[in-house]
Amino acid sequence: MLNLTGKNALVTGIANNRSIAWGIAQQLHAAGANIGVTYLPDDKGRMEKKVAELVEPLQPSLFLPCNVQDDAQVQQTFDTVRDKWGKLDILIHCLAFATKESLSGDFSSVSRQDFALALDISAYSLLSLSRAAKPLMTGGGSIVTLTYLGGVKVIPNYNTMGIAKAALEMNVRYLAAELGPQNIRVNAISAGPIRTLASSAVGGILDMIHHVEKVAPLRRTVTQLEVGNAAAFLCSDLASGITGQILYVDAGYEIMGMSEAGSAS
Ligand code: NAD
Repeated sequence: MLNLTGKNALVTGIANNRSIAWGIAQQLHAAGANIGVTYLPDDKGRMEKKVAELVEPLQPSLFLPCNVQDDAQVQQTFDTVRDKWGKLDILIHCLAFATKESLSGDFSSVSRQDFALALDISAYSLLSLSRAAKPLMTGGGSIVTLTYLGGVKVIPNYNTMGIAKAALEMNVRYLAAELGPQNIRVNAISAGPIRTLASSAVGGILDMIHHVEKVAPLRRTVTQLEVGNAAAFLCSDLASGITGQILYVDAGYEIMGMSEAGSAS
């Protein structure tokens, strides 16, 4: 039985009701986890208000600002987790960023600054959050991050984010190797394309979704809640033997070779 009762789960990356992190938070909550939520703060407090309203039904016992570019804020977040919860069992890393300019056009034209920014927010942050989580996962734990096929294969316009996801996926393996002796498991879910705030910055995202709907074995893309179900599984004792893995939750798209041929029904 999938049961997360008694587990403390910190979920990053909720921006709105389309966020994959929102799908994950709902499914962790449904499985009985105690939820904490972090959000990306802005000057006007808009994100705080919007996310607070959205997550209210889950009755999060922690609700904290956390910009992963700010080391002090990351430390403050985990200090609060330690003070309020004592221990952490689950960390969901569900965030990424790249400038719009670095998500379309020629890959070779990506600037040094845009490249570094994408890698910092989207890949390095898994290290910094895991480092802060490690001492709090005293009873073992599960860390889950979100990746995409564009980190393994060339996907039009994914460009800089593809490099960030390749780095992220290797982070998963190195972290899994380091944290395994503490019974902390680290895995990634490679989700199929879903319309969200972040994905709308990728040039041609709708074409990507339509392509998947035509050729994926299940003839559709996936939902946030389906990704949430897989995350709940990875965070549960049912997945106690799984670490360092990339789990594709993509309606099977990743297995297809001659993908145009798959469109014939
Ligand atoms: P989203 O826009 O809902 O979520 C992205 C989140 O990243 C937002 O909550 C945003 O506030 C947060 N974020 C950005 N910069 C941050 C910073 N400096 N500090 C803290 N948080 C920051 O979009 P999403 O599609 O749900 O993205 C979530 C994750 O899923 C990302 O890693 C994305 O690459 C991955 N993913 C998305 C898809 C897709 O098609 N939507 C597919 C596979 C993987």
